[in-house]
Amino acid sequence: MHDFRYVGNKLYCEGVSIESLAKNHGTPLYVYSQATLTRRFLELDRAMSPVDHLVCFAMKSNSNQSILRTIANLGGGFDIVSGGELQRVIAAGGDAKKCVFAGVGKTDAEIEFALRKGVYSFNAESEPELQRINKVAARLKKIAPVAVRLNPNVDAKTHAKITTGTYENKFGIAFEDIAGVYARASKLKHLRLRGLQMHIGSQLTDVKPFELAVKKVVPVVEALKAQHGIEFFSIGGGVGIVYQDAIASGDAKWWAQEGENILTPQKYAARLLPLLKNLGLRILMEPGRYISGNSGILVTRVEYVKRTGKKNFVIVDGAMNDLIRPAFYDAYHEIVPLTKKGGVTISSDVVGPVCESGDYFCKDRELPKVGEGDYLALLSAGAYGFVMASCYNTRSLAAEVLVSGKKSAVVRARQPVKDIWAGESVAAWLK
Ligand SMILES: *Cc1c(COP(=O)(O)O)cnc(C)c1O
Repeated sequence: MHDFRYVGNKLYCEGVSIESLAKNHGTPLYVYSQATLTRRFLELDRAMSPVDHLVCFAMKSNSNQSILRTIANLGGGFDIVSGGELQRVIAAGGDAKKCVFAGVGKTDAEIEFALRKGVYSFNAESEPELQRINKVAARLKKIAPVAVRLNPNVDAKTHAKITTGTYENKFGIAFEDIAGVYARASKLKHLRLRGLQMHIGSQLTDVKPFELAVKKVVPVVEALKAQHGIEFFSIGGGVGIVYQDAIASGDAKWWAQEGENILTPQKYAARLLPLLKNLGLRILMEPGRYISGNSGILVTRVEYVKRTGKKNFVIVDGAMNDLIRPAFYDAYHEIVPLTKKGGVTISSDVVGPVCESGDYFCKDRELPKVGEGDYLALLSAGAYGFVMASCYNTRSLAAEVLVSGKKSAVVRARQPVKDIWAGESVAAWLK
């Protein structure tokens, strides 16, 4: 469950009216619920509690300082994918020693920075990368803890742009090659083979691909433990969430449709723990979306309603530069008014002002009739939302607000327009 619900006819985040936030801080506006974020983290943490484990929040899904601090305060670690993310999480009060560093293209400078900060593990994706980490560690007279990302060649059956665990994509090292890679890496003097990692894709709503992958990889993990003394097995992230939220259709509780098909931490743990608990290894998880996705919404204001022969266009002040998921992944976001409307609905396209046909949030969807000045919320926008925002069309980055109970705080000020070109200049010869 999450903490966005109607109180009377007004949409609330925990104890705060979202319309009051929109009026005070302007739109487009991201609003996050600390209670939802906390609950989601703890659900996973508790589900995995029968084994030694660490939940490393994939901070690429939402890296606002307040979000990171919330996770750090709960004892969480972080899955990072760049030196910038490591700097950011340290600035937010996170512990580098609980960070795992993923990604196929780590640079010398990033490796050096992460080594100096003492990350828990580099999750390496190729042999040249292992050699590079070894070289940088040798120069610094350090030992680098590493894990290799194994590509289990399991089809996660998710969107093509977010599937990662098959040989069609750039991630990890093939199943067949793993033993040789560890054998060669064990000869590199500045590496310590600390674990094995995998991550098969994102927004998986079925436990089966996870189960298949873990079953396939466990024998490899056992062999690596025996031969190289590895300490951890990271089963990656990818736990999916519900995007089709029933609060859109009146009073129904959103979890009413959480039928058999929804992947819960309990179901995930029930199927995976029996496979993992006898390994005698620390189990790492790298969830991003499951923790942050349902914890945030994007609030936008209706500027115009444009009727054409075929369509009812609701033109809002938020756009693909604020939330690119519909354009990029064909993603579905529930769209609800901040003030509940009775009765009539109308088939609508909700579109932004950006000059791209791809700039839409939904097409031909039955929505309550809205007019100029009404506010709409795009639900489940907490993951891969603000972090993917751009200034395309010279639109400034949206503001972000964190809510906890009856409290709210602006945790990122709206970007002043002039800041968009602050680093630019006119070349001397043009003047
Ligand atoms: C993106 C990513 C994750 C998080 O994926 P979610 O679907 O958000 O849980 C975890 N691990 C790695 C290596 C990733 O690249």
